[in-house]
Amino acid sequence: MSQSRDSRTKTDRVLQAQREYMEKREKGYREQALKLYPWICGRCAREFTRANLSELTVHHVNHNHDDNPADGSNWELLCLYCHDEEHSKFENFVRYGSSSGTSARPAATHSPFAGLREALAKGKDEPSA
Ligand SMILES: [Zn+2]
Ligand SMILES: [Zn+2]
Repeated sequence: MSQSRDSRTKTDRVLQAQREYMEKREKGYREQALKLYPWICGRCAREFTRANLSELTVHHVNHNHDDNPADGSNWELLCLYCHDEEHSKFENFVRYGSSSGTSARPAATHSPFAGLREALAKGKDEPSA
């Protein structure tokens, strides 16, 4: 009779395990990257200390979070803002096509960063990509 509750609990457990795995994985590469590289944003050269280290994020150069070579070649330490910009650039690249073709840049009718920045402020690490 409590079958449905059991299965839901099981699903919850699976989800929970998955979440823990993701967190562990993320913590793993973040720690490795922080050990490997100086705590400096690769774009704006802002320096970080333990006090504000949460604002320093690990960016995946090829945008694949599953690609975590131990030599750190796919990681780049970026501050929240530069990370934000890096992803916006990548999204524009995906959305508006490659470097070939028109050289027209997307019209700046709205701030493409606004949403992402909001997302970054809410969840403290990277958005999905
Ligand atoms: Zn920066
Ligand atoms: Zn990133």
